[in-house]
Amino acid sequence: MIAQPEPKQDVLARREAIVAGLRALLPETGVIAEPLRLKPYETDGLSAYRQVPLAVVLPETTEQVAAVLAYLHQQGVRIVPRGAGTSLSGGALPMADAVVVGMMRMNRILDIDYANRAALVQAGVTNIGITTAVSAEGFFYAPDPSSQLACMIGGNVGMNSGGAHCLRYGVTANNLLGVKLVTVAGEVVQIGGEHLDAVGYDWLGLITGSEGQLGIVTEVTVRILRGPEGARAMLAAFKSNEIAGQCVDAIIGSGIIPVALEFMDRPAIHACEAFAHAGYPLDAEAMLIIEVEGSVAEQDFLLDRIKDICAKFDPISLKVSQSAEESAAIWKGRKGAFGAVGRISPDYLCMDGTIPTSRLPDVLARIGEMSESYGLQVANIFHAGDGNLHPLIMFDANDPSSFAKAEKFGADILRLCVEVGGCLTGEHGVGVEKRDLMGVQFTETELEQQRRIKSAFDPGWLLNPNKVFPLQPQPALAKAA
Ligand SMILES: Cc1cc2nc3c(=O)[nH]c(=O)nc-3n(C[C@H](O)[C@H](O)[C@H](O)COP(=O)(O)OP(=O)(O)OC[C@H]3O[C@@H](n4cnc5c(N)ncnc54)[C@H](O)[C@@H]3O)c2cc1C
Repeated sequence: MIAQPEPKQDVLARREAIVAGLRALLPETGVIAEPLRLKPYETDGLSAYRQVPLAVVLPETTEQVAAVLAYLHQQGVRIVPRGAGTSLSGGALPMADAVVVGMMRMNRILDIDYANRAALVQAGVTNIGITTAVSAEGFFYAPDPSSQLACMIGGNVGMNSGGAHCLRYGVTANNLLGVKLVTVAGEVVQIGGEHLDAVGYDWLGLITGSEGQLGIVTEVTVRILRGPEGARAMLAAFKSNEIAGQCVDAIIGSGIIPVALEFMDRPAIHACEAFAHAGYPLDAEAMLIIEVEGSVAEQDFLLDRIKDICAKFDPISLKVSQSAEESAAIWKGRKGAFGAVGRISPDYLCMDGTIPTSRLPDVLARIGEMSESYGLQVANIFHAGDGNLHPLIMFDANDPSSFAKAEKFGADILRLCVEVGGCLTGEHGVGVEKRDLMGVQFTETELEQQRRIKSAFDPGWLLNPNKVFPLQPQPALAKAA
């Protein structure tokens, strides 16, 4: 397990005074400091890591967030922004001397502008909540993380989240128009808005994916899109991971961009079928879910072309869904995949890296070899169309050596992603999980330049520190402290 830095003892000694200061700024129910009530906040989606925070605050307005940050900044107290806490990289993991700023009470839709295809929402609105708010008018919000029932748009901005349909529509960064950001000192800054382009530096790009390290986002303006006329998914089953990988490569190489192109290997197919009863092919070693959209004629044309490509890879079966219900069942299995794998192994690490799609067959073969040499089973479920891998490494949490092996295996997979021209994270962020691998991706000069950006926004490194950057060395941090 990655060591956590020592808590600031002076802050811990002043704990009661700090909590009293926070209580003066927020309604009574907006500050949590009782040990039992802090417990639910001790971890996020990377549940192998746990730490109860000093306190949790639940602001309801931008003004309250600003007042809290100004106070904590003045007191020199660390701050961990938190949405729904579904981060799989430990991005929302608390520290003993930090106050968690939970955004769940900022859950209002503020404005929907259909004419300009934009929605203004508070940061604590769930991802699915945006689509729900606009669906009656035939609109939707495109990025669709599998956690979309729970995860919040502020967290999506923090992690630049993606999802199955991002192959066609892009990730969070491609669907954002603006954010309201509270700086560490409590100043409120509006970045972007309902208009298309921004003047000067691309601040929005900088804030997206900044993992709560540059400020707290309180409001988000997103692009909403008119829904397609219809969509249909098909299943293609193959005799090996490598052959399925070659088929993905061929589909993308042909110039067709399906809306979604998802990959599951044998363990994943079995786990998901047991859960969703979607008719997944249990005799296959690997399966692709391919979705196209448009008019019925467009769907038929694209599906015919895709079936022709799949046919060249000696498929075990090809099945095109014939109804919205069949498509929904196919997606139910995929969207519930992480929970479904939990039924065969209660403990697993969900890795997240990207590779050029042309390297899929080779990388899948190497992951298979690693799985054998580590003696740990792996289920591969991922957004294959854009090369975003999610190998799920199964281990036994009761055996510390099994967990250590799983972490080493995961790190080897991420090194492999970088080696073949990809990167350390596709959508789950760096958090604590990958911070010590950042040197695999970046030179020290590149890291130092990024630390300077962090220092410009947050000179005292109070906002979500000890994440994203390797703990040692931290030259900019040392200078700023
Ligand atoms: C079952 C499951 C499936 C998942 N599937 C996907 C998937 O398909 N695609 C994907 O991309 N991710 C996926 N994830 C990961 C996770 O859901 C995303 O990273 C999500 O965007 C996190 O949102 P959250 O509200 O839970 O944020 P949190 O986990 O609370 O926080 C995430 C990061 O954002 C920061 N943050 C949160 N709110 C704010 C704010 N208002 N201002 C500034 N910083 C903030 C936090 O400090 C942290 O660094 C999955 C997770 C689970 C558990």
